[in-house]
Amino acid sequence: MTTQFPGSLWVNTAVPLEPSPVLEAEVDCDVVIIGAGFTGLRAALHLAEAGSRVIVLDAGDVGWGASGRTGGQVNPMLPFNTPDKLMKLVGPQYFERLTETSLDSADALFALIEKYQIDCQARQKGWLRVDHCDKARRVSASNTEIWNRHGANMQVVEGDEVAQLSGSRIYRSGVVSPRGGAVQPLSLARGLARAALAAGATIHGQSAVIGLAATADGWTVRTANGSVSTEWVVLATNGYTDGLCRGLDRTIIPVTPVQIASDPLPAQQIDSILPRGHTISDTRRIIMYARREPDGRMVFGGHGKLDSNGNIGGHEWLIRDVERIFPQLGGVNWRYRWGGHIAITGDRLPHFHEPRKGLIAGLGYNGRGVAMSHAMGLCLAQRVLGAAPETLPFPTTAIKSIPFRAIQMMGKGPVIEMMHMLDYLESR
Ligand SMILES: Cc1cc2nc3c(=O)[nH]c(=O)nc-3n(C[C@H](O)[C@H](O)[C@H](O)COP(=O)(O)OP(=O)(O)OC[C@H]3O[C@@H](n4cnc5c(N)ncnc54)[C@H](O)[C@@H]3O)c2cc1C
Repeated sequence: MTTQFPGSLWVNTAVPLEPSPVLEAEVDCDVVIIGAGFTGLRAALHLAEAGSRVIVLDAGDVGWGASGRTGGQVNPMLPFNTPDKLMKLVGPQYFERLTETSLDSADALFALIEKYQIDCQARQKGWLRVDHCDKARRVSASNTEIWNRHGANMQVVEGDEVAQLSGSRIYRSGVVSPRGGAVQPLSLARGLARAALAAGATIHGQSAVIGLAATADGWTVRTANGSVSTEWVVLATNGYTDGLCRGLDRTIIPVTPVQIASDPLPAQQIDSILPRGHTISDTRRIIMYARREPDGRMVFGGHGKLDSNGNIGGHEWLIRDVERIFPQLGGVNWRYRWGGHIAITGDRLPHFHEPRKGLIAGLGYNGRGVAMSHAMGLCLAQRVLGAAPETLPFPTTAIKSIPFRAIQMMGKGPVIEMMHMLDYLESR
């Protein structure tokens, strides 16, 4: 697997990377964190501040996984689940905690950015989620009523107001969530790394973990050129999860969203699009999401695909979709095209696991990980620092393979085609 960054708008505009040398020694510490994305870095920051000796290892560099490639939308809500379904899945106690955690997740992230003065173009101007059909409108309106009872403060918008806020005539209704916003995600990852380093953590890039072995008093974590003895291992590998921890990769289906971004566009071409600075996403299964940058660039994301060599593609379909939704952008040169891997779970909830003493994992944000990965990172750190599992915001669940996962993985192409078709039929 190559561990160079893919060319992206974020790579071209991010703040510099702090040095994170390859691990080339045998060392010991209290906690090894595998994965230098948002989850791992948030955990590292909290643990280092609490006085733990923390080492973060990543196969690439800081933010190399989804965190440095994401659309960077900070969306304060769990994906897919309606309140009823969430209650059924987790019961009343975790319903309250997960609802509170997810609705607060964006505010918590923006407060963290402010506290550490992280230079990542953070803006909290709201998130507009638009409905692609009448059924989606009914579900959104009823969910909004319930989430608002928990302080979400969302507003249903309809008709001309949606067209005016979005800049598209395709959608007839939507919901504005004022707590949402956007960040330059690679700068956020690098800024978090800087804060964690300042608090005393150590970060090694280009240091893929190739072995994990239990010892009498903890774990030995092995890379190609070094090893670490530690009491705790935290797995923060999300869509890049491999076979290090038995069965963990089978708890998720990796999926590949893609991004496109333009050069700065003339004001008259884009003035009508997201004029109040909202981010936007729609309710389709094959989602479209977008943001307008302060310098006039447009950034879009959607569903991508992998070819048989593992190359990420599918940008052409996204471009056609964008031109249909925003005819103002017809013929734009999409200079940057990239993508990455995320983790989808069977129940569409993030998962916290503790399969062995001193071994914990947090993953499965189902495409809404920018804010939730920070909540999970904090939760992982709290567990290492001694919080009892039953006090954490995420329930501790067993590592269980997704039923018929192999078939689902094989059938990803046809399933995506079918989802396209359903979206199309519903929105006619
Ligand atoms: C194209 C794209 C667009 C997205 N858009 C949005 C969005 O707009 N809003 C939103 O909320 N979410 C979005 N997401 C999802 C979000 O980015 C992720 O959920 C989140 O970044 C996950 O963070 P993480 O730290 O858990 O994992 P990652 O950032 O993926 O980090 C995992 C890390 O683990 C490392 N790793 C794996 N195995 C090993 C090993 N054996 N040894 C060492 N290191 C290892 C990898 O190198 C990787 O860096 C998007 C994702 C993608 C790919």
